[in-house]
Amino acid sequence: MAKPSIAVHKFSSCDGCQLAFLNAGEDLLTLAGLVDISHFLEAGMDDEEAEVDIAFIEGSVSTPEEVERIHKVREKSRFLVTLGACATAGGLQALRNLDESNEDWKRAIYARPEFIRTLDHAEPIRAHVRVDFELWGCPVNGRQVLAAVRQLLFGVAPVDTRDKVCMECKRQQAVCVMVTQGMPCMGPVTRTGCGALCPRFGRDCYACFGPAENPNTAALARRLEGLGLPPADVARRFLFINSQAPAFHAQALAHYRPGFADE
Ligand code: SF4
Ligand code: SF4
Repeated sequence: MAKPSIAVHKFSSCDGCQLAFLNAGEDLLTLAGLVDISHFLEAGMDDEEAEVDIAFIEGSVSTPEEVERIHKVREKSRFLVTLGACATAGGLQALRNLDESNEDWKRAIYARPEFIRTLDHAEPIRAHVRVDFELWGCPVNGRQVLAAVRQLLFGVAPVDTRDKVCMECKRQQAVCVMVTQGMPCMGPVTRTGCGALCPRFGRDCYACFGPAENPNTAALARRLEGLGLPPADVARRFLFINSQAPAFHAQALAHYRPGFADE
C-alpha cells in the first residue's frame, strides 16, 4: 500500500517554521518512515506539482504569483494546514498593511522601489483558499506539527490547543512576570503551544502564538495602560507578529492612530 504523502510549501516567510519542523528530531525520522515527503525545500525535496494528502503552507500571500500558486496547491492537496504566524495571521510582514499609502515602506527599505511587485496587503492563507487546520507560532512548535500529521493520517481532527499561556505557566510552575515584575506580558490573551517558554525564562510573552480562545483583550489593554504603557505601545503589543488575527487587530485599532510609528 502506498504511503500517505506530504508537502511543505514556502510562501512569503523566513523559513523559520520549516526549520522548526526539521528540528523535531527523532520524531521527524519516525514520520519520514510513515509518509512520503514529496516537496520540502529546506529538507532537499523539490516537486512542487505533486498531489499530496497533506500540504503544509509556510508564509503569507504577498505577491500576485503567490495568489496563483496557493490555488494550485489547494487543488492538489487533500488537507491543507498553515504553518505558523505568517501563514495563519499574515506575520510580521502584514504590519505594512497599516501603511495606507502602500508606498512609504517601499521607499524606506528599497533603493529602487519601482521594481517591487507586491499585493497591497500581506494576507493569511485563509484569505485565499479553504484551510483545514491552522498551526500558530513564530515559529511553530515542531511537536505540534508532527502531532497534527499523525492525527490527520489516522482520520482524526487535530487537537486545537487554544488555552492561554497563563494556564501553561501554572502547569509549568513559572512565576508570573506581570504580577511579580510588572512586565507587559501578553500571556493572558495568547494561546499556548510553546510551553510558556518566555515566562519560564523571566521575560514577558509577546504573543507569537496568536489569540487564545475567548481572549479578553480589552481587560489586558487596560492592565497594560495601568503598567504605564502609552496607547501607541499598547497597540504595538497587539500588532506585533499576529496583526491580522481579528481579536488582536480590533484591540490594536482602539489604541492606534496614523503616524504612531513615529512616537
Ligand atoms: S511564522 Fe515566524 S518563524 Fe515562521 S516563517 Fe513566519 S516569521 Fe518565520
Ligand atoms: S511565551 Fe509567548 S512569545 Fe514566548 S514563545 Fe510562548 S507564545 Fe511566543
